[in-house]
Amino acid sequence: MKSDFIIVGGGVHGMAAAYNLALRGAESVLVIEADTVASGASGGFGQRGVRANRRDLRELPLMREANEIWPTLHEELRAPTGYDRTGGAYLIDGPAKNGFKGIHAAETYARVQSALGIATETWTRDKVREIYPGISDDVHGASFVPTDGVASHEATTIAFANAARRLGVQVLEHTRVTSVETGADGGVAAVVTSTEQRIVVGVSVLLANNTGVRDLVLDATGVDLPMWPIYPQGARLSSSTAARIPILTGHETRSLSVKMLGDEIMLTGGWRGKNATVDQANLRDNIAVLQSVFPYLDDLAVISADASRAESASVDQLPIIGRLVPNLYVATGWSGHGWAIAPAVARHLAGALLANSEAAALAAFRPSRFH
Ligand SMILES: Cc1cc2nc3c(=O)[nH]c(=O)nc-3n(C[C@H](O)[C@H](O)[C@H](O)COP(=O)(O)OP(=O)(O)OC[C@H]3O[C@@H](n4cnc5c(N)ncnc54)[C@H](O)[C@@H]3O)c2cc1C
Repeated sequence: MKSDFIIVGGGVHGMAAAYNLALRGAESVLVIEADTVASGASGGFGQRGVRANRRDLRELPLMREANEIWPTLHEELRAPTGYDRTGGAYLIDGPAKNGFKGIHAAETYARVQSALGIATETWTRDKVREIYPGISDDVHGASFVPTDGVASHEATTIAFANAARRLGVQVLEHTRVTSVETGADGGVAAVVTSTEQRIVVGVSVLLANNTGVRDLVLDATGVDLPMWPIYPQGARLSSSTAARIPILTGHETRSLSVKMLGDEIMLTGGWRGKNATVDQANLRDNIAVLQSVFPYLDDLAVISADASRAESASVDQLPIIGRLVPNLYVATGWSGHGWAIAPAVARHLAGALLANSEAAALAAFRPSRFH
């Protein structure tokens, strides 16, 4: 078997790259997925934040571009993405006791984010209380980005996969890539699968298998990417008192992220599971943080919790995207925020794979930054 472009991993990054390759005229694109499409970090319950607010500044140009794609992506893919531009706030406690944040830094963040194309407002104490009645007295203000929002990750990933299939992309599910063979020129010659198929590469390979990228790269090239797996933990909660949290909400210094799923609360915020299982102590602490910010939510019930979706963390918490050897590309190291930028990353990656070059827009994320 032979394919011009082989993509390992059927999450949002693999499927969006495959779709964009086919859209730009690639005729032979194969995605190999160990389980099923959207079975990793790009699947599961709830929504993912489409957030520019307080991202690493190097990611803001990609976010600006993604913000242009998200509102009409459902039309392009001919399927719902669940995208909702709710606006997003980062709540800020009073003057910082330590570190470099706090209410006095908020205007500076707003100024720089706005200059980089992400219009940002600073909300006063009163404005915060108007938007979030009943919020804790500790909250003194907020950074607000009107273009932030949420999207349904599983629906979007499946929409990318179906659109890619309509353009002729082949998706091989339940097949794990076990190794990547390099040839005499240092480039990739073939990938080998758990079903003992050796699939010859015509042009290039993209490893978009999230936490699995490190081992395949190490084995094929000897390069040990500075990344490791994490298991973000999230929960769905019900409340006997209606939550008054109308927008995507995070907190600058407390580990808290809230999205509303109708009447239910989706609670995350950087908390981890114990490997792939729910850490009950962390879940209790996460809920305690929510209640410290919204004290009226004193009667909460856990509907479900999950920590089964592995995600890759990189040593500088920036994605690792780019070319490693002549025709081997990686897209990984998302560090818990790889969702929002996916539609923009995929366009640049597809262009780079087609031209067998590096994308200028992805320069800050090149794997070579570590060497
Ligand atoms: C609970 C949670 C909350 C999050 N919240 C946000 C958020 O609010 N905003 C945000 O921007 N990001 C968020 N993220 C991060 C974001 O979801 C991920 O960065 C993104 O989905 C990663 O997509 P991916 O395609 O790279 O990886 P994945 O979706 O993990 O896909 C990789 C695929 O590769 C497959 N695979 C692995 N090894 C192999 C192999 N050897 N051969 C073949 N296939 C293989 C896996 O089965 C998997 O399907 C969150 C993540 C989690 C888990």
